[in-house]
Amino acid sequence: MPYPYHDFDLLVVGAGLTGLTIGRLAADDGLRVLVLEARDTIGGNLVESEGHGGAYHKYGPHIFHCNDERIFNFLSRFTEWRPYQHKVRFWYRGKLLPLPINYDTITAMLGEAAARAVAATGLETITYADLLNKSWPDDVRTVMSELAEVAGRYVYKPYTQRMWGEWADKLDASVTSRVKIRTNNDDRYFTDRYQAMPFRYNDLVNNMGRHGGITYETCSAPDWAEVLFCFGGKPVVWTASLDDFVDELPLLPYRSVSFNTYIGFYWPDNMAATINTPDVGPFTRYSNMNMLMGRGAEKDGGVVVMTERPMEHMAERGSGGQIIRHNDALYPIPCEETRRLYDEYTRLAEATALALGAKVWFAGRLGRYQYFDMHQAVANAMSVYQEVARYRAAKQDGGVDVTV
Ligand SMILES: Cc1cc2nc3c(=O)[nH]c(=O)nc-3n(C[C@H](O)[C@H](O)[C@H](O)COP(=O)(O)OP(=O)(O)OC[C@H]3O[C@@H](n4cnc5c(N)ncnc54)[C@H](O)[C@@H]3O)c2cc1C
Repeated sequence: MPYPYHDFDLLVVGAGLTGLTIGRLAADDGLRVLVLEARDTIGGNLVESEGHGGAYHKYGPHIFHCNDERIFNFLSRFTEWRPYQHKVRFWYRGKLLPLPINYDTITAMLGEAAARAVAATGLETITYADLLNKSWPDDVRTVMSELAEVAGRYVYKPYTQRMWGEWADKLDASVTSRVKIRTNNDDRYFTDRYQAMPFRYNDLVNNMGRHGGITYETCSAPDWAEVLFCFGGKPVVWTASLDDFVDELPLLPYRSVSFNTYIGFYWPDNMAATINTPDVGPFTRYSNMNMLMGRGAEKDGGVVVMTERPMEHMAERGSGGQIIRHNDALYPIPCEETRRLYDEYTRLAEATALALGAKVWFAGRLGRYQYFDMHQAVANAMSVYQEVARYRAAKQDGGVDVTV
């Protein structure tokens, strides 16, 4: 038995934002929490690295935004914020245009009359799926079809293809609906009420994770059945991928990204920290880390640029059943086929937990096999923690096990 399990009330697997939120809420309530993390850092994908003259987001640009005051207030306990509004441009036939596509983008692509006609619909936003499928009134039908053509050819289709590779044609419609076309000229990427950057994500996660009631252990593929059995029915929150837990099914597919950081001496638009290149070059986007980290667009040492090249997640099972991941499992793939596989995993994982006498909740981006922005990860963690607290209360009241 590698850990003194009897000393703890709650086990959390994974110290990303989800695991840290649950661990912190529990520790604030007086629980003794053991967190098992595979990496030697806490914070999951929020972690920053040092290099090129300052800190930068190691796992891709992370921009905080949310509308929920409760989540903003919770995170504000652990960080101060730097005002920040994210802006993105994309290359369109040699010009840089606002993304999401807005009034000015439509003007540049199809002319001002087209932009006025789209705005005259009275709709604030339009999804790409609606552009293609909705039955538009006669007076805008032509312009909507032109917009669908140009937006599809230069943005949605090539970006989706490169981002998702062979999965592109199978994806849920929700994937392209995430970035809606705007009829006004708002060129901010997000329109949420709270938009800001923590001064440092590393400080945010360290402040959140630093609590006398939380113990961290770095773990490397332990025998999870043994760990769960030894924890003896006390709550366990699993924020890792389910294929690390159950080894009887094909691996859950993910998309990965290769991030590369270099120093350049030119940045084409000092208003936008990210430049997307949906249909040209090897990368999907370039981000200016100086701007994201609050160092100004350019500085004497040059522009710290991060490029992203999406790719297949490469992994296989070793002879002992453990997974060897050759790159990071970053994006769950949202489609019918993977949902069915995930459901099968959940069924087997719950049956395994029951057989071990363990009480396990699956949470977060990996545990739920669902893309979560940071605020959604915190919201998910908060609701899972409420279930854990109810379970503990019910057990203490009558020793009764409850199904949540
Ligand atoms: C490229 C990219 C860009 C993003 N940009 C934004 C953005 O701009 N704004 C935004 O709001 N959100 C963004 N996100 C989403 C954000 O990263 C997630 O919301 C957040 O990381 C979710 O936290 P999590 O704890 O659920 O998952 P993770 O951060 O993945 O944490 C999971 C943790 O579990 C650990 N783990 C995995 N397997 C095991 C195991 N077997 N045993 C023990 N530990 C294990 C991992 O090492 C990791 O520390 C982005 C995500 C990506 C991939």
